[in-house]
Amino acid sequence: MAREKKIEHYDVVIIGAGAAGLTAAIYCARARLSTIVIEKALVGGLATYTNEIWNYPGFPDMPKGEAITDLMKVQAKNMGAKFKLTEVQSVDLTGEEKIVETFRNKYIAKSVILASGGRPRTTGAKNEENYLFDKGISFCATCDAASNTDKVVVVIGSGDAAIEEGMFLTKFAKKVIVSVMHDEGIMDCNEIAKEAALANPKMEFVWNTVVDSFEGEDHLDTVVLRHLKTNELIPVKCDNCFEFIGYIPNTELIKEQVTLNPQGYILTNDRMETNLEGVFAAGDVRDKWLKQVATAVGDGAIAGYAAEKYIAETEVFECNVARKDKNGAVYVYNAVEAQQRELVTIIEALTSRHGENYHFCKVDVYKSDGIAKKLGRTNYPYVAIIKDGKVDHYIDLISEDNIINALKTS
Ligand SMILES: Cc1cc2nc3c(=O)[nH]c(=O)nc-3n(C[C@H](O)[C@H](O)[C@H](O)COP(=O)(O)OP(=O)(O)OC[C@H]3O[C@@H](n4cnc5c(N)ncnc54)[C@H](O)[C@@H]3O)c2cc1C
Repeated sequence: MAREKKIEHYDVVIIGAGAAGLTAAIYCARARLSTIVIEKALVGGLATYTNEIWNYPGFPDMPKGEAITDLMKVQAKNMGAKFKLTEVQSVDLTGEEKIVETFRNKYIAKSVILASGGRPRTTGAKNEENYLFDKGISFCATCDAASNTDKVVVVIGSGDAAIEEGMFLTKFAKKVIVSVMHDEGIMDCNEIAKEAALANPKMEFVWNTVVDSFEGEDHLDTVVLRHLKTNELIPVKCDNCFEFIGYIPNTELIKEQVTLNPQGYILTNDRMETNLEGVFAAGDVRDKWLKQVATAVGDGAIAGYAAEKYIAETEVFECNVARKDKNGAVYVYNAVEAQQRELVTIIEALTSRHGENYHFCKVDVYKSDGIAKKLGRTNYPYVAIIKDGKVDHYIDLISEDNIINALKTS
């Protein structure tokens, strides 16, 4: 008989404990939200595979990625965030209650932050699956560089990760042969990395090539490259191969529910809001220009802050705005506008005259426009007439008479 899953309630569930998820956890837990971070592999995420991080502000000594993310983890824990090391297997994010399921648990949350990052793309060449990870094809120089001391390695790709990690490999390997799909001298990495790589005596480049197949008995011993212009097959003897040809977003779990771009990355606005209320995305998993630790941290901060605002606004909305116990009227305005500000007196007058029978409240969108969004209209000012906890209709011609008449014709 299938075991019943243990149910746990949280304000926020964060999927993924990379730089984005850890930062979101710091912000959520600091705002006193009950917060759990679920991670299927390594706390610290992709950054833990990076040997030297040169560009994360505040760390001038080029630390390992995990040195930075370990500190983030400590900070999140100190604030009160909980961690669970397991894989999220399914989610239902469409309702007001968000459901996140692992093998043993069912987490019910008010808000979910998707920070599941991405994973390395593979070449799709013949026999590749026979050699993945410990049989000769690696995606992590930090993890596997030392075991390649005095060996010959092949690197696939010419982006920042390929060239920077390739140069790191030259500290160990006797030769690093880089397969680049472009014409001689053209690479996808930044200019500084390119110049350094071209000047590195341990690095060799095979231009205009892609991988045709991987060969070897039990372990990879040859990468067969194909020249893109001549179709010539070029067997390259090696001890190991490192693939750095980009990433695939980890969005399989949510692809039916959350809007993605054609490449599968989550679409958000600058508040990290997805198409679903209460669901936010941060870091490499979302569609954005620069995927780095610094930007993942920025996203995580915004997502954590946005989740806190969303939860607070939902509570205000349920308790004060869309009340079920009394019909009422909500004045939605922008306090920066003098004319809109003046109309507040109408609501105050109505409260003192009819407050026993109806509830009246005002929402200043300058402070927060989330409640206005929940009321279904974002062009202000207006009065929303609430009946049985729901918006019945809007009034644009705002006067005491119009509001009270609308309520009396319930
Ligand atoms: C080789 C390399 C070198 C790099 N060098 C630099 C650099 O020098 N400077 C820099 O700023 N950036 C660098 N980056 C980029 C940087 O590492 C990423 O931008 C950053 O780590 C993204 O953080 P993230 O939190 O968005 O995602 P990730 O770090 O990818 O974290 C996502 C986490 O979610 C987890 N996850 C996914 N699915 C699930 C699930 N279903 N259940 C539970 N957990 C799940 C994953 O296991 C992962 O730990 C480098 C990347 C690579 C690969």
